Amino acid sequence: MGRVYNFSAGPAVLPEEVLLEAQKDMLDYKGTGMSVMEMSHRSKMFDDIIKTAEQDIRDLMNIPDNYKVLFLQGGAFQQFAAIPMNMMNKHHKAGYIITGQWAKKAFGEAKIYGEAVELASSADKTFSYIPDCSDLPITDDMDYVYICQNNTIYGTKFPTLPNTKGVDLVADVSSMFLSEPINVSDYAVVYGGVQKNVGPAGLVIAIIREDLITEETYPGTPTMLKWKTQADNDSLFNTPNCWAIYICGLVFKWLKKNGGLEAMKVRNEEKAKILYDFLDQSKLFKGTVEPGSRSLMNVPFVTGDEELDAKFVKEAKAAGLENLKGHRTVGGMRASIYNAMPKEGVEALVEFMKKFEAENLK
Ligand SMILES: *Cc1c(COP(=O)(O)O)cnc(C)c1O
Repeated sequence: MGRVYNFSAGPAVLPEEVLLEAQKDMLDYKGTGMSVMEMSHRSKMFDDIIKTAEQDIRDLMNIPDNYKVLFLQGGAFQQFAAIPMNMMNKHHKAGYIITGQWAKKAFGEAKIYGEAVELASSADKTFSYIPDCSDLPITDDMDYVYICQNNTIYGTKFPTLPNTKGVDLVADVSSMFLSEPINVSDYAVVYGGVQKNVGPAGLVIAIIREDLITEETYPGTPTMLKWKTQADNDSLFNTPNCWAIYICGLVFKWLKKNGGLEAMKVRNEEKAKILYDFLDQSKLFKGTVEPGSRSLMNVPFVTGDEELDAKFVKEAKAAGLENLKGHRTVGGMRASIYNAMPKEGVEALVEFMKKFEAENLK
């Protein structure tokens, strides 16, 4: 069987060139006679891998010098705890904007360590839009304001960043990481699990403004969860996820070679438009997100009939279009069209949807 078009929300499609390069390096990485999985994280070879990866992501995202780049484990989920543990240290209070499951889970975790305040929510319409964030009840005794900028499950993205009234902004960008340029200085912390749009599962990249990396953490914070431990040791306090860091490094090179994040944005907008334009005129399929809040990366849609949805997912799979089933909590379909999904994949999906519509419209 050849490769399929993989619309998985994560772990997700990676660039074929990167997979082929990893395959080439597998038995003998640059004359070492071993794979990256087999070498010491203290070796000169691995030191080059992690340092080059850091420099490349700094170049791609234009990360200012006063931000640290940390390569961490434990998934985005572990940062749901690490963020309040490291940042709720002045007033022990923070504001959360609830735009879906991941924001809700981060909010729940923060409540363990301090006072977490719900600033806004789109739960009233099953998280199908981003609330107006121009004048939220943010107070200056909040240590930070938290958002999940792109909501993987519901397919929404903040059209603009919230007005935080001068309070530090923390953003989970897992499912939009490196999909378009962002201005890192607008955030105090930007972080994400890489298994959505960047690399293999098991690695989180956190970009943290230096003044937030302090000894003043929540009492009892484990050594591993203190950002300072990780920053002081350049992400090598203990054995990191060497393999994932190496693959991300290859993806960074691929992004640089393909025009960087400006070019990704153009490509991603073009791909998303093909799908949204089709959905907007379809008589069978319907997008579930309000147009002003649509994600470029995750596109949920439904037919309005659960049986027909299931039939679609099954027939699409048989046609080489994989992982189109929506998240188990929302049903329907979802196409994740990350950086590594070629335009041809989206075109093939729309062609298939047209055919399915012709066959099934009553
Ligand atoms: C997948 C996802 C998570 C959870 O990531 P883990 O690495 O499994 O902890 C968190 N936030 C967002 C936006 C996600 O898409």
